This record gives sequence, C-alpha cells and structure tokens, in this order.
Amino acid sequence: MYADRILKHVESAYPQQVEFRQAVAEMLHALSPLLRKEPKYEKYAILERLVEPDRQVFFKVVWADDKGKVQVNRGWRVQFNNALGPYKGGLRFHPSANASIIKFLGFEQIFKNALTTLNIGGAKGGSDFDPKGKSEAEIMRFCQAYMDELHRYIGALKDVPAGDIGVGAREIGYLFGRYKKLVDGFEGALTGKNLDWGGSLVRKEATGYGAVYFAQEMLGARKEGLEGKVCSVSGSGNVAIYTIEKLWQVGAIPVTVSDSKGMIYDKEGINLDLLKEIKEVRKGRIEDYAKNKKSAIYTPTKDYKAGTNGVWGVPCFAAFPSATQNELSELDAKTLLQNGCKCVVEGANMPSTAEAVQAFLKAKICYGPSKAANAGGVAVSGLEMAQNASLHTWSFEVVDQKLHTIMQDIFTNSSQTAAEFKDPTNLVLGANIAGFRKVAQAMIDQGY
Ligand code: NDP
Repeated sequence: MYADRILKHVESAYPQQVEFRQAVAEMLHALSPLLRKEPKYEKYAILERLVEPDRQVFFKVVWADDKGKVQVNRGWRVQFNNALGPYKGGLRFHPSANASIIKFLGFEQIFKNALTTLNIGGAKGGSDFDPKGKSEAEIMRFCQAYMDELHRYIGALKDVPAGDIGVGAREIGYLFGRYKKLVDGFEGALTGKNLDWGGSLVRKEATGYGAVYFAQEMLGARKEGLEGKVCSVSGSGNVAIYTIEKLWQVGAIPVTVSDSKGMIYDKEGINLDLLKEIKEVRKGRIEDYAKNKKSAIYTPTKDYKAGTNGVWGVPCFAAFPSATQNELSELDAKTLLQNGCKCVVEGANMPSTAEAVQAFLKAKICYGPSKAANAGGVAVSGLEMAQNASLHTWSFEVVDQKLHTIMQDIFTNSSQTAAEFKDPTNLVLGANIAGFRKVAQAMIDQGY
C-alpha cells in the first residue's frame, strides 16, 4: 500500500531520526482510509514530496561567552512546505535539539498551519544552544550570531520564524534587532515580537488559551465542561502558564506544573501570580514554588517511577501535557485512565508516545492531538503577520475572539472529517486528514 511504501522509505532513509519517523508514521497511519479512497495522491506523488523538506539549512553559530571564550553551537532551519503561504514555524533553543526533532516539528507544522485556515506554510528551526544559566549579554550575542546565518533564508513573505522552547519575547527581540540591521529594513520577518514594535496582543497567551478553548469544544460536544474540574498541566513555560491562566478563568482547578528537574503538586491549585513571578520575572525553577507555598509538594524527576512522568500520576479530570515530545508514556496513559481522566489536550508537540495515543483512542476519551489542539500559537502568529502587513493593531478582545473562533473551527473541521471516515471520536484521524487534504490539493493545483 502507498502509505506503507512511503513509511518504509522514510525508515530506511532516516534510520536515526526517531522523532521524525514517529511523526511520519502517525500521520501516514491516520491518512490510510483517505489514501485507499483517493488514488490521486499517489498519482501526484504527494507523500513522497511531503516527507522531504523543500530545503533544510544546517549552520554553525559562533559566539563569545562573557569570559571571551569562543563557543560553537549548531543551528538548523527546515523549510518543509509553502503550498499554502510563507514558511512558518518556531525556533527551539534547547541542548536536546537535533536534526530529527527539528524535522518532526517542521513536518507537523505543515498540517497544523493548514488547520488554522490561515495562509501559512510549514517550517521549524533551532539550535542546541541552552539559554539556561547564560547572562543577558551572552543570550544577545548568541541570538545575533544565529541571525547572522539565518537572515539569508527568511523574510516577511518567505519564511517567518517565531518562538518555541527556549525562545520567548526576549530572544525574539534580539533576533529581530539583528535581522533589521542586516536587511536594512523593518519588516515582520519574525512573530512573537514585543507589543510596542509590531507584536500582537494575545500572542503570548495564544497556545495555552487555544488548548483550553479546544478542550471546551471537545467536552461541550459530549455535554461536559471544565468548571470545577481538577486538571494536570506539565511544563512551566509559555504554554503551561497560559493554559493555567485560562483554566482558572473557566473555573477549572489546575494542580500541577513541572520542569526538567521535577514537579509541583499543589492541592489548592497552582497560584498563577507566584508561578509567573518565579518563571517570567525571576526566570527561576519551579522548585522555588514549593519554598513559597505551604500546600505545594515538590518531587524531583529522579524520584519518578521508572518510565513515567510524575505529573501524570496525579488524579485529574483533564490532562494538558505542555512541556515537550514523548513526555507521556503508555504507562502514564494507563495511569491517567485508571484515575478517571476523561480528556487529554496536547499543548506541547507530540507529547504522547505512539502507544499512549493508542490507549487514549481505545478508551474513546476526549483526546486533542497537538496538531489541532496547540494550533492557537501559530494562528495568532498568522494574525500578527496580518496586522504587520496592514500596519494596524487589533485589540486584545478582537484577537482573542479570532483565536477562539479558529480553535472552534479546527475542532469542527477535525470532528466532521473524523465522522466522514466513520470514526467520529478519533481527532487524530480527523485533524490529519483535514490538514493533509488542504495542503495536498494546493500542491496538485500548483503543479510540481
Ligand atoms: P518554554 O521554553 O517556555 O517551556 C518549556 C517547558 O517545558 C519548561 O518548563 C521546560 O523545563 C520543559 N521542558 C522542556 N524540555 C524538557 C524535557 N526534555 N524534559 C522535561 N521538561 C522539559 O517552551 P514552550 O512553553 O513555548 O513550549 C512547550 C511545548 O509547547 C513544546 O513542545 C513546544 O514545541 C510546544 N508549542 C509551543 C508553542 C508556543 O507558542 N510557544 C506553540 C505550539 C507548541 P526546563 O525549563 O527545565 O527545560
């Protein structure tokens, strides 16, 4: 079969790219019923063309630390597909970043961006640079050196990077400042900018708010809701913080946060002001949360049960994995289900392993895959591009309303597509087919 042939090709061509192969396998598995019905995709070699990026650049980033010692990091930008619009996708600065992780993120981004209904293509980039423990001046110098290479490949109508793990408003500021100098022009070639110089209201909140809006849609379709419900959130970065903010706003009780060193369980609910103070102002670690809040228990990662993430051992009605890929194992999925979890909404990209996804689908709980559930971030980035192009700034309410509508539309499109293929609760199938159909048709329309 077509999908099997392509998967075999990817497995033999990229044996070491584990995350990329995982993302492709999930996608191809979900597309199988469509590919069986529609021979045109094979005729036009759409899968062959989608699993190879249009281009990928791999460069070195040379910068000097505060002691004057020269440091060298690796940088990537993978431009996957621009059938629907300029390439678009974040930059990740994290020591674990590698070609496989950047490629899986770029591949997913194609279909996620298609689901937003906006005209944006898919890309991703990053570096193995670790911003943790670096001085402000070191971060600035690194960002400048990174942009010295990247600026050749990006532009407001060409490729528009944004943030991701390790890249927030501060890093976008330094990247943008350097870009502006190098091209001698002020153009919206990056999103996630500061509000005073081209950023959009709600961009910071968008992914977290969007994930909660998506949860409300899934639950609403089953006549359920989040009010009064205990929720578990992993991570403590941008996505986690604004998921927690929106959960409180809709009357839910978020009780956990985590980072790579450990987790917090606060039975009274996570104090948002304290969390923001520690993470956004002090740029500290969540261990400090427990030092400032009596009801909180801190568990270091080394004390987690083997093969599990401690966050998912806390009984909850809804889980919001919002840290990183493969942070929720099959064992975690089983524990969540045994403890009565009815809803899993992926704020992070591909946070559940393939086996965990199968467990959620089998249990027929509300499961919102990342491609659909965390599309709010890139959607508001798309709205930032629209505001930059028109030299207008929209109010918080206007952008938030647009975000809300986009998330509702993504749910409707994904669930209607799932129903069309006789598996109405399977949003993995629905989101993948809906996103793929749009991109594939654009590729067919535009020729090869
Ligand atoms: P941040 O850098 O703001 O926060 C990342 C959080 O995840 C931190 O708490 C970090 O802990 C934790 N984390 C990162 N890597 C690991 C790891 N290997 N093990 C355990 N914990 C880890 O990133 P974001 O909040 O922006 O991104 C989180 C996820 O959401 C990512 O998967 C990203 O791709 C996805 N996403 C983000 C969007 C956005 O708009 N920002 C949009 C769509 C998806 P520590 O500080 O210890 O590293």
